[in-house]
Amino acid sequence: MVQQSKKEFLWVSNLSSEQLRVMRDHGTEPPGSSPLNYETRSGTYFCAGCHTSLFHGNMKYDSGCGWPAFFTVIDGAIETEIDHSHHMVRTEVHCANCKAHLGHVFPDGPKPTGERYCINGVSLKFKKEDV
Ligand SMILES: [Zn+2]
Repeated sequence: MVQQSKKEFLWVSNLSSEQLRVMRDHGTEPPGSSPLNYETRSGTYFCAGCHTSLFHGNMKYDSGCGWPAFFTVIDGAIETEIDHSHHMVRTEVHCANCKAHLGHVFPDGPKPTGERYCINGVSLKFKKEDV
């Protein structure tokens, strides 16, 4: 795979205003709004900003929370940060490569990780596996 230079700047020009609101300004899409909530095929979820692989289809599960949810993440693909906004203490997750805001991780996921990565669908691009 060819590495793009200035990868981290790609997303500024390529995204919709809703994507920028979520990914740059730490917004949240309306619950239940993402078609990726219903995506169950095997494949890979990429960062919509820089196309780094973040999750595989087999890491996704139906949490019923209204956003695409994953119980683990591809090694090194994301970084976390404590978020004190909205009078809550949450762990914010963002793309390790381009720093785009993705969502939050909560400690109420399924075994074995016990983690629930609650991710805005607009921050993701899904590519189904070729069979
Ligand atoms: Zn990214």
